[in-house]
Amino acid sequence: MRAVGLHEDVVVATSRVYQTTCTLVRSGGEAFCIDSPILPDELEILPALAEQSGFTVVGLLATHGDWDHLLGRYAFPEAPLGCADTTAGRLINEPGAAQREMREFDEEHYVERPRPLSLPGAQRLPVPGKVEVGEQEIELQPADGHTEDGMAVWIPWARVLVCGDYLSPVEIPMLHAKGGASAYLATLARLEPLVEQADHVVPGHGAPIDGTRAAASLREDRAYVEALQRGDAKLPLARRTGAQRSIHERNLERV
Ligand SMILES: [Zn+2]
Repeated sequence: MRAVGLHEDVVVATSRVYQTTCTLVRSGGEAFCIDSPILPDELEILPALAEQSGFTVVGLLATHGDWDHLLGRYAFPEAPLGCADTTAGRLINEPGAAQREMREFDEEHYVERPRPLSLPGAQRLPVPGKVEVGEQEIELQPADGHTEDGMAVWIPWARVLVCGDYLSPVEIPMLHAKGGASAYLATLARLEPLVEQADHVVPGHGAPIDGTRAAASLREDRAYVEALQRGDAKLPLARRTGAQRSIHERNLERV
């Protein structure tokens, strides 16, 4: 797992699997942990990493309800989980889905975990809205389209945008089945003014990128999704691996 400090109050760890990112943000003696790494050893070392860097984690946030972003409770079992209303609803409407998908991944890769994933009721956060961290506030924006739920987190004093599964340098846009393309484009439009102000953007998958590179990703992703809608989409040059091709095939079925 790689960890990098983006600002004195923001540290990002990137998982060895799927390059899933986990962002620690702090102010005034308290910190949130946004999303999670995936592997048991990464989750085990996360509390020590947070403590050594002076981050006292008091709460977990999830950008959306996909299982690979929900594992923070393995690292911080006492911390309550906060998420968008849409995500809290999804977790209630799809009981056990995250646990089942995690188990499928674990069985395929022979991963052993110390205990099953427990996800007690999540706290519903105001989205769009603001949430206090210590003496500061982070801003939440709706971010659906990849899934039917989700939020992006803007950390204004650090100029860091944690956007969930958008603007990834390693993954092409992955659309949700129901009206994903138009929702995806609306989310990109909401993210755009934040990307323009951002020093760093933390995508759900892939190491943090600077604002300029994220803006380029945003333009490329918008062009790709618009082309999907028109029926003439091609994979972005830098993201043409086998895995991205199969995501592309799924996208084609979904528009
Ligand atoms: Zn994801």
